[in-house]
Amino acid sequence: MGDIATPTVATPAEAPAERPPVPRSPTPPTLAGEQPPPAPAPEATAPANEAPAPAPEAPAPAPAPAVSTSQASPAAEEPSEGPPEKGGERRENGPRKPVGAEQKGLYPPRHPGRSQRMIGEVVVDLGLADAETVEEAVTAARAQGRPTGVVLVERGILRHDQLARVVAERFGLDFVDLSVFDLDMGAVNLIGFQAAKRYQAVPVGFTEDGALLLAMANPTNVLTIDDVGMMTGRRIRPAAASVEDLNLLLTRLARMDESIEDLVDEEPEEQGERDVSLDDADEDAPVIKLVHSLVAQAVQQGASDIHVNPEEGDTRVLYRVDGVLVPAATVKRRMAMGVVSRIKIMADLDISERRVPQDGRFALNLEGRRVDIRVVTLPLVKGEGVVMRILDKGAGMLVDPQDALASLGMEGKDRERFSRAIHRPNGAVLVTGPTGSGKSTTLYAALHTLNDGERSILTIEDPVEQQIPGVKQMQIAPKAGVTFDVGLRSMLRADPDVIMVGEIRDRETAHIAVEAAMTGHLVLSTLHTRDAPSALGRLIDMGIEPFLVSSAVDCIVAQRLVRMLCPHCKRRQQLSEHVLAEHDLAGATVYEPVGCSRCSGSGYRGRLALYEVMTVSERIRAMILERASVDDMVAVAQQEGMRRLREDGLGRVRDGSTSIAEIERMTSSLL
Ligand SMILES: [Zn+2]
Repeated sequence: MGDIATPTVATPAEAPAERPPVPRSPTPPTLAGEQPPPAPAPEATAPANEAPAPAPEAPAPAPAPAVSTSQASPAAEEPSEGPPEKGGERRENGPRKPVGAEQKGLYPPRHPGRSQRMIGEVVVDLGLADAETVEEAVTAARAQGRPTGVVLVERGILRHDQLARVVAERFGLDFVDLSVFDLDMGAVNLIGFQAAKRYQAVPVGFTEDGALLLAMANPTNVLTIDDVGMMTGRRIRPAAASVEDLNLLLTRLARMDESIEDLVDEEPEEQGERDVSLDDADEDAPVIKLVHSLVAQAVQQGASDIHVNPEEGDTRVLYRVDGVLVPAATVKRRMAMGVVSRIKIMADLDISERRVPQDGRFALNLEGRRVDIRVVTLPLVKGEGVVMRILDKGAGMLVDPQDALASLGMEGKDRERFSRAIHRPNGAVLVTGPTGSGKSTTLYAALHTLNDGERSILTIEDPVEQQIPGVKQMQIAPKAGVTFDVGLRSMLRADPDVIMVGEIRDRETAHIAVEAAMTGHLVLSTLHTRDAPSALGRLIDMGIEPFLVSSAVDCIVAQRLVRMLCPHCKRRQQLSEHVLAEHDLAGATVYEPVGCSRCSGSGYRGRLALYEVMTVSERIRAMILERASVDDMVAVAQQEGMRRLREDGLGRVRDGSTSIAEIERMTSSLL
């Protein structure tokens, strides 16, 4: 095979012919003197743009590819073989158009194309050693059946970087000196660290015509070239790199990988395919990097959502942190379209469809923690917007499975009522509140509490935000016909004790849920209503008979999230007794936000939930049948001990957890 070696790769045009001595060669080139290389070979054509390529001596680092070989030991080369052909086609672009203008650290071969020469000849030719020395090594290599290059390095005749340079020259490939080459992180991010390590190859940049420059320990490994080509959907231009430098780079990437691992999904192949579909837009690389960093930063700041809002000029990116939108970044208009497309690709959405809202999801691994992200695209007047909800399963808020209810922070009596309701063998327990009020956290806490191995628990969710061992969880898939009502109906055939329905949105779902609650199942679900008593009227409005509502529903929790004061900077708020009394806080010591470095100047850190827990007593059941007003039911429920959301909030102001302003904000949202 070694012989096959023919050329192929070569691209005529590119021939680099001669390159002046390398300017930057990091290492002293060769032992041998470095004579300037002979002029270019005939074949060489003009050196492309950059004329001066250095050359004679090898640049720096070099891989230790297996490639070496002398004529004698063809075998040794096997691995390398392939480069020619495939490599050839792919590299069509020519050798010389390296990555950006600055190709610092990138050296084209003096003779493009695979040469017929053996490694030993190239070594001599480059002036790295004299013929006699090389001949001895070649003889030894042949005798041992090992690659000449390896023997040359072992004998101290060549350094690793020089060997890489020789290999590059031998096969007519570029040599990349990773110690000085400017990495394009966008290129690096195209394949994950794990893949880079496995292939001993790292994409380090792009050529002018969009090919991916791949630094390889063994640049002749066709399989690697093919694989990376498929993974990235790009033409690959292989370049030889020193093994030592490549390993250093991989170590660096591994470290980076700890903060941002690349895309990881449950189904790696699928993910791979998605990546493949990347089109060749040149801005992909920076775009990918940008998307990753926007998400990583959002997670780090504890944001729950990322909004990408197109505006007249640039696009604004906002994070929702502790319930409040804060500006995070501004993205140039041109880049913004790429960002949106990239997000859509990650979420497996149709990139060409920009006029209809779409939703999907993807997963990222950040700092060793899996973060699921739900994506919704919005066709807005000024362009396509995106909202990403971060479903951070590793994040706290929820769940100490051992004592899940306690972690909700429900006040004592409220917790007792809620706990009693979820421990009944049947009936419905509903949690209400607007989007982002922590409803699912409450339901998950209930599931953790009930998940004792003796109950069969099924859920149907949109999406499954947290996986609970032992619980059978189903995700709705409307495209496949699995909606809440359809899934719920099928679940009932699976003999569950407890059913959790992510949300009751329509009459069908409401109907099945109520029936299930009346036929021996405990049903947990959510509704969008402003307070607990309103949920009863909502069900009736959805078309459920009052007598069914009255007998099925046992408990309703309304909730909201408010920001907690930063404990490091909050200060006592000076208010007159009169003002305090107006807020129903007579005699209380209250605090207000200030802002410090630990809370990014907002004065708040983290959130807490406020609850209103209503037990549907016999008296309330009778009122439902009579179609009594919400106000009347509230009055009765309060007599029976229900504390309203605002009361719970004022209690949290009294204990210094939050501010009057936060409660006012929450209360106004009740209207
Ligand atoms: Zn602070």
